[in-house]
Order: sequence, then C-alpha cells, then structure tokens
Amino acid sequence: MIIVGLTGGIGSGKTTVAKQFMALGIPVYIADDEAKKLMNRSKIIKRKLIQLFGEQAYINNKLNRPYLADKIFNNTSDLEKMNAIIHPIVATHFKKWVEKQKAPYVLKESAILFENDAYKNCDYIITVTAPKQLRIERLLKRDETSLEKIQAIMENQWNDNKKIEKSDFVIINKDLGETIHQVQLTHNKIVNFTQ
Ligand code: ATP
Repeated sequence: MIIVGLTGGIGSGKTTVAKQFMALGIPVYIADDEAKKLMNRSKIIKRKLIQLFGEQAYINNKLNRPYLADKIFNNTSDLEKMNAIIHPIVATHFKKWVEKQKAPYVLKESAILFENDAYKNCDYIITVTAPKQLRIERLLKRDETSLEKIQAIMENQWNDNKKIEKSDFVIINKDLGETIHQVQLTHNKIVNFTQ
C-alpha cells in the first residue's frame, strides 16, 4: 500500500485538507487522534506511563491529561520518554490499519511527521501551508487558547521552508475553494504514480 504523509504546522489546515481527501474515498489515519485513543486503551502504554509519571497519570482508568501536560511542559527528557512509549504502539496500530484498507493509497495525518522521523516511512509527503497570521487567526477562533501558546507550539515545529524542501506536494490553504482544487490535482497525480 502506498502511504502518503500529510503534515503542516499548527492551524495550517491538515484536518480540513484530510477531509477533502476522504471525500475522494481516501482512508485517513489521524495519528494524533489515534495516539490519544491508544493512551486510554493500551494496557502497555498505561503501565509504562504510570511507571514514568506515577499513579496520578490515570484517574478512573482515563488518562489524566492536565497532569501529564504539566509534567512534560518544558521537560524535553520526559517528553521524549513519553513519546518512546507511545510511538512504537501507534506505529504497530497504523501498520495493522493499513493492511485493512482498500484504496489506491492511504493518508497519514501528523503534525510532527518530520519532527519525529515518521516521514521516512512514507512514499510521498504533502505539506499544507498557510500564512502564519491566518493560522493564528484560525486557531484563536477555533480553540480556547492564547497567542503565546500558539507561538510556543509554532517555535517547536519545523518551519514551512524546511518541510517544503522535503515534500513531494504542497497545498496552500487560504481560500477553501482553491484548496479543494489543489487536493483534486494532488490526488490525480498520486493515483497516476500508483498505476
Ligand atoms: P492542528 O494543527 O491544530 O491540528 P490543523 O492543521 O488540522 O490544526 P484545521 O483544524 O484543519 O487545521 O484548521 C484550523 C481551523 O481553521 C479550523 O477551525 C478550520 O475550520 C479553519 N480552516 C482551515 N482551513 C480553512 C480555509 N481554507 N478557510 C477557512 N477556514 C479554514
């Protein structure tokens, strides 16, 4: 199966673009959502996170998100340890998911496709971009967040130029109609590659 990575900075429009691919019949794996589900479901993750962060990591069998967010905030070492627990399990889950799909290709959406090296397992990569100011406006409208929080996340992500250099396709997500058109063109090209 051809695996196409879909990435982009926070608020660039990955999910919006992913939905357009879904409308064309392409299965999409949203890595962040699946990781969140697995953190509640997987016994191995639960055991290891409790070993790392203590019993408070879960309350009533549910991940204690605020507690964990606090633990890893500004603690790169703990963040790396947490990722080392979660990523292999998500990777296995993704592989099994891929085996079940029937389509010319599948999409894997991840905000940190480059940052965590997952791009190396993709056949093609699409990066979604939008001007920084527009991304900030969209995020302030969508989430209960602050400019400071958005900027802190942006600083931890690769900049667009670095991502674009390593990408096969770039979708500029400003006007939605134009985005949909770019999705269709990109889809056609990928389907051609797979034939
Ligand atoms: P995150 O990095 O937080 O996962 P994302 O890259 O998946 O975000 P989206 O959730 O798709 O981004 O988009 C962010 C917000 O901007 C959403 O509220 C979405 O509806 C809006 N949005 C995205 N693209 C457009 C567009 N072309 N026109 C208008 N609004 C848009």
